[in-house]
Amino acid sequence: MKYTWTCRCCGQQFDELPLSFAPLAPDPWAGLTEQERATRGTIDSDLCVIDRQHFFVRGCLDIPIIDPPATFVWGVWVSVTKQNFERIVALWDAEIRASEPPMFGWLCNDLGVYPTTFGLKTRVHLRDAGQRPLIELEPTDHPLAVEQREGISLQRVEEIAAEALAGH
Ligand SMILES: [Zn+2]
Repeated sequence: MKYTWTCRCCGQQFDELPLSFAPLAPDPWAGLTEQERATRGTIDSDLCVIDRQHFFVRGCLDIPIIDPPATFVWGVWVSVTKQNFERIVALWDAEIRASEPPMFGWLCNDLGVYPTTFGLKTRVHLRDAGQRPLIELEPTDHPLAVEQREGISLQRVEEIAAEALAGH
C-alpha cells in the first residue's frame, strides 16, 4: 500500500507499507538441512510434505485493519492430517470448494512479532478456485488471535513491518 511511514526504532522513512508477510516454508522444513530436504520431503509455494507423515499447506491468516478498512495478511503454513491433505490436493483445481467443512490445522510458523505462534490451533477454510485457504485461529487470548478478532490499527501494521523487515 502506498503510505509514507517512519520506522520508530531507526527513523528510516518508507513510501510503501507492506500489508502481507509470508514465511517461505513451515518452520519444520526451514529447520532441515539442504541434504535433509533433498531426501526427506517436497515443497512448493503452497504444499509441503516431510517424511511422508507431516503435511503442510499455506493459507491466509487475515487480520482486519480498522482505519482505513483493509486487510493485513500473514501467509502462514498449517499442518493438517494426511486425509485432509489429500482432500485439499484432490480439490486443488475445483472451482467450488468453499462448501467443504473447515479442517483442523496446527499453525507451523513462529511469526516473531508475537509470543510464540507455533502450535496454535486453527480452522482451515477452503475457498473457491484460485484462493489460498483462510486460516482462522482458535479464539484464545493469544495476541495474534485477539488481533484477528478485533482488528489492528495502521500504526500496528507499521510496528509489524518494522520488525518483519528485519535488517532494513
Ligand atoms: Zn527501523
